[in-house]
Amino acid sequence: MEGIRNIFCVGRNYVLHAAELGNEVPDSPMLFMKPTHAAAVMNGGTIELPGQYGDIHYEAELVVRIGKPYAAFRSAAELIDGFALGLDLTMRELQGELKKKQHPWLKAKGFRNSALLTAFRPLADPLAELASREFVLRINSQEKQRGHIRDMIFDLQQLIDHAGSHYGLGAGDLIFTGTPAGVGSVQDGDHLALYWGDDCFGECRIKLV
Ligand code: ZN
Repeated sequence: MEGIRNIFCVGRNYVLHAAELGNEVPDSPMLFMKPTHAAAVMNGGTIELPGQYGDIHYEAELVVRIGKPYAAFRSAAELIDGFALGLDLTMRELQGELKKKQHPWLKAKGFRNSALLTAFRPLADPLAELASREFVLRINSQEKQRGHIRDMIFDLQQLIDHAGSHYGLGAGDLIFTGTPAGVGSVQDGDHLALYWGDDCFGECRIKLV
């Protein structure tokens, strides 16, 4: 995808999701990154994923795009210039093994096509618009996840301040803001569709190879 720079992701940003994986709720944002090569667009086509490393979990997330350089006094509303819906795909079994060995998550979280994105939409009044609807993941037409930014443990301003002050943030950077409860594995042939309220923003078919 053109124009994407750093891809930040937030772990455990919804209480019910932390609980479903048996994780404690963190006391500061838990950030990790994906390579830009992980990004792929959900434009109705087929997405290939590696099938040989155990279960791949879907994590539906709201994704914000940063439009200008971070500075401490800049509000989230000023910095965010667009949003998309995304899937932070995760090799869950491999992630468990890596955690046990105290190895980095990269292999389980950063593989090619692990950051699926709908097209980005511009935002004129980011905070109000992002709070105006729920995001929904449907697999084979069945609802699997539903989230709203009011349920985030760390809100957009806290995520942006944390990422910006520790790592820097600039135009073209993305933040996957965390997944609500309901994660599960994708199967070969599954049809995944992300909705903003009732509007389908992007869809794809999964092929495990
Ligand atoms: Zn995630």
